[in-house]
Amino acid sequence: MQKLRCTSCGADLEVENQFIRSVTCAYCGANYMISGSQTLDPKGKTATLADYPSRLNVGARGTIRGRAFHVLGRIRYTYDAGFWEEWQIAWDDEQSPPDWLEEDEGMWTLYRRGRIKAAIPPYEEVRVGTSISINQQNVFITEKRKGQVAGSEGQFSSVFPISGEFGYVTGAGDKGKLSVNYWQDEIELSRGDEIEFNDLVIK
Ligand SMILES: [Zn+2]
Repeated sequence: MQKLRCTSCGADLEVENQFIRSVTCAYCGANYMISGSQTLDPKGKTATLADYPSRLNVGARGTIRGRAFHVLGRIRYTYDAGFWEEWQIAWDDEQSPPDWLEEDEGMWTLYRRGRIKAAIPPYEEVRVGTSISINQQNVFITEKRKGQVAGSEGQFSSVFPISGEFGYVTGAGDKGKLSVNYWQDEIELSRGDEIEFNDLVIK
């Protein structure tokens, strides 16, 4: 584990492994891109999340269907009808890159970032109630919204926009739930896997 120092408040910032691409200081909310050989590239500040209790916290350990994980980071998103949170989790067996655990009104979904193998239709062209093709798979669109990052803390395997709105859509494909985030200069595809209450054990 590498230790870097927050240039804003001086706190230690942990960077656990080579998958980490951005980090948010838990004390002051300063957000950095990790570039080159572990140097910090400041992006600005997000709100800190200390005032929002949850079942999980950064550093917590648990298992999903028996596979051990620990929590690296947390992002809180808002949209017109409320908020949701995503937890960046690292698997203790290190057999795959960190994944995202989403908590939305007590429901948990495990999201794995997927490779985009063919162009995905632009946000403006996607309509709820129609199907689009993602990686040669028909995906029926069930939700289309704009979201915004409200705050973050910890380490992340992706770089997310700390201000401004982004579009996202979710839908159902042959192999389960799919979600597409339209960041400013990147489209991110994730595959969702709903977690039953008993499959998630927090230690
Ligand atoms: Zn700081």
